[in-house]
Parts: sequence; C-alpha cells; structure tokens
Amino acid sequence: MLKVFKFDSMPIVDIINEILVDATKKDASDIHFDSHENFMKVRIRVDGQLVDYTEIPQKYVRNLITRIKIISGMNITESRLPQDGSIKSTIKDVDLDIRVSSIPTSNGEKIVLRILDYKRSLSGIETLGFSEKNYKKVVKMISSPNGIVLVTGATGTGKSTTVYSILQRLNKEESNIITIEDPIEMDIEGINQIQTNPEIGLTFATALRAIFRQDPNVVMVGEIRDSETAKIAIRAAITGHLVLSTLHTNDALSTIERLMDMDVEKYLLASALTGIIAQQLARKLCDECKKKRKTTEFEKKLLKDILNKDIDEIYEAVGCEHCHNGYKGRLAIQEVLDINQEIKDALSMNVRKGKLKDLIYTNDVTTLLQDGLEKAVQGQTTIEEILKLIEIDEIESEAKQKNKKPNIENNTDKLVVTKKEEEKEPTLNDVVTKSIDDDLYTSF
Ligand SMILES: [Zn+2]
Repeated sequence: MLKVFKFDSMPIVDIINEILVDATKKDASDIHFDSHENFMKVRIRVDGQLVDYTEIPQKYVRNLITRIKIISGMNITESRLPQDGSIKSTIKDVDLDIRVSSIPTSNGEKIVLRILDYKRSLSGIETLGFSEKNYKKVVKMISSPNGIVLVTGATGTGKSTTVYSILQRLNKEESNIITIEDPIEMDIEGINQIQTNPEIGLTFATALRAIFRQDPNVVMVGEIRDSETAKIAIRAAITGHLVLSTLHTNDALSTIERLMDMDVEKYLLASALTGIIAQQLARKLCDECKKKRKTTEFEKKLLKDILNKDIDEIYEAVGCEHCHNGYKGRLAIQEVLDINQEIKDALSMNVRKGKLKDLIYTNDVTTLLQDGLEKAVQGQTTIEEILKLIEIDEIESEAKQKNKKPNIENNTDKLVVTKKEEEKEPTLNDVVTKSIDDDLYTSF
C-alpha cells in the first residue's frame, strides 16, 4: 500500500522529515527518488528488496529536490552533474546519518539516500552470526600483532560492519589505531580516522606512507584498490603492524587469486597474509510466521552432498504483518580462511591457480555454501535464499570437490608453477572498480 501525503496542506519540509523517519523505522537501507515524466516515485529498500513507498505529484517535485539538496549540503543550482552530500541530524528523536547522491537522468534528477545504521557494528563481532568454528578463527587471526586480515565480498555484503566490529574489539587504550577510509562511515571514539581526498593528492597510498611514521599498531585501509596500496599494506604487515582491509572478491579462493594477480612480491604476500573473511548477506526468516515443510528430493540430495546430513524437514517463508514476504532482517553467511603454512608456501612458490582450490578447501574450511545451508537447516534462512546467492554450477563443482579428497602432501612437487601459465595477468586497476557504495548491514 502506497503512503499518501496531503501535499496541499503539509509543508514539503514536514513531508521529507516524515519520509526519512518512516523509512528509518521500517529498517530501510535506501530511499530512492525516481523522476518519471509526470511524477516522482519514491521507493525504499528493505532487507535488500526495493518496494514502492509513495508518489510525489510533479508540481511538488522541484521543491522536494531543492529541500533534499539543502539539508544534504549540495549545490541547489546544479542539476546537470552528479553530486554527493550527507545528512546528519535528529528528527523526532530518530538519529539520522544519511549519504545522499544525485544524478541527472533523461526524466530529471534521481536522488538516492543511503541510511547508515551503526546499531549492528556497535554490538561486537560475536553478534555477526559467525559459526563457533569461524568465530574462533577470526579471534585468533585478529589477535596477531602483525599480518593482513582481509574482509571480502561484493558491494552490500556487510564488509564494513565486520571491519568496524573488529576495530572495536581492537580499540584499547594501549594501542594506536589509524584508519584510511573513503568515506568514513562511522566515527569511532579513540581511533584516528583519515578521509582520503584524491583531489589534493591524499590517496590511500599517500596516507598509508605517512601513517607509518605515526607509530601505529593497527591500520585499517578502507579498500585495497591498486597494487601500490597493496604493496605498502604488505610491507606494513610484515614490519609489525596488523593491517585490516577489504577486497571485492566473492570467496577465499578468488581473493587469493586476485592477490596473486597483483604486482606484489609473492614471498612478501605469503608472509603477510594472515586470514580472509569472505561474506554474503542472506535474508533472515521471520520467526513469527516461518513454517516447517518436507524437503524436496533435490534439497535432500544437496544437503547430503554438501553437509553430509539427512534432512527431512526445512523451514520456509510464509509472510505476516511483522515481516516482508516471510523475511525480516538479514543474516551474514561467512567463509573464514586461516592462512596456514601450506598456503603460504604455495603463494611464495607462485603455485598454479587451479591447485589453490585443493589447498584452501580442506575440511578445516566451511565454504559459503556450507555455512549458508547450515543456517538454512537451523531455520535462520531458506535454501532458496542461499541458492540465489551462490551459483548453481559452483554448487555442482563443490559437490564434486567434496568427493575428491585433496592429498596435498604427495603432490607438493607438482605445485611449482611453470612460467607459461601466468601470461597477461590483469592488474588490480583493471579488475577492481571503485565502490561507491558501503556495505553496512542495514536492517537487523
Ligand atoms: Zn512474518
């Protein structure tokens, strides 16, 4: 049901305030203002899905856009170029921290508001949904005084939440923590945060160089976007600093492959890399209305192949007044890789990529698919939701992979790579695109 505003009697200032507060209360992560030919459509994103919210008649659109631009510090006279802004205020006792972006489209301006929600980041890594095994691995890797820990995933998979939660865990009086971010998504008391500014030459790389003259213990680099940043971060990690960063890769394997494609010295990378946390976000089943049903033959086989479990019943989404189509909030699915000596050796020997898979996916690693299906079996999400996030052919190859037990010890002589196989490797600049989006979980 679309919300209806009384545009003829309600000032536009109040209408916008109402939209902001209402969207925040609905746990929306974004508000979209789309210009159409004769009106403006407003949609909100809840649990990852865009839903229609209201429509603004054409005669009020101009005022509405101007008001949003004013409160977000944008230039109201510029409508032909993209602009960024932000809103930080408290309306009706609701604290708002919103990033605003406008772009010109053929129908007029489109404005998107990203609502930042720090509730989750502030509640600690133990609340991020790690399985007990993964949680212990994460705690171990971040308690090392040096090395690089990478949090990876596509845009919108909750990387920032995980990174901020780790920083909070490490935020103690006796340690000097410095971050370089673009943008700074959350202010953390006791941590020195630097906003990059490429226009004046303050890039991740230049900021990183300066930081190491500031005697840091922990350094967080918002994102490793180029080989230069990667090189400095690796140097830092092997000279007594714990470095945290993120990469846009889907899983532990693709992260290591990406790192190997970079123009960095492999033996340094091998020595620096401590751990990888790869993650996805799945919609969480609503506890009020979820209901059990029999598993299908396909699901039975899948759960047997991947988890080695015989499961006869599973939860499905129903839908009620408390949720959206049976789902409420989101849930992280993780794959945590503690880099062991075998993987380090393979990295420094520049091992063929195909061989890495056997080294990474041993019984010690719960894959994203396994973690997701396990959470579906527990009734936290559904199999459908997990299969939407993970490609079907990945599943098939993984099922095959499970039947083939890797035997690394007897194979080490074959791990040395021949030079032929590394022709025309893409540089990091080719493959990493700048994320304009952050990844905070928005609706817990
Ligand atoms: Zn429900």
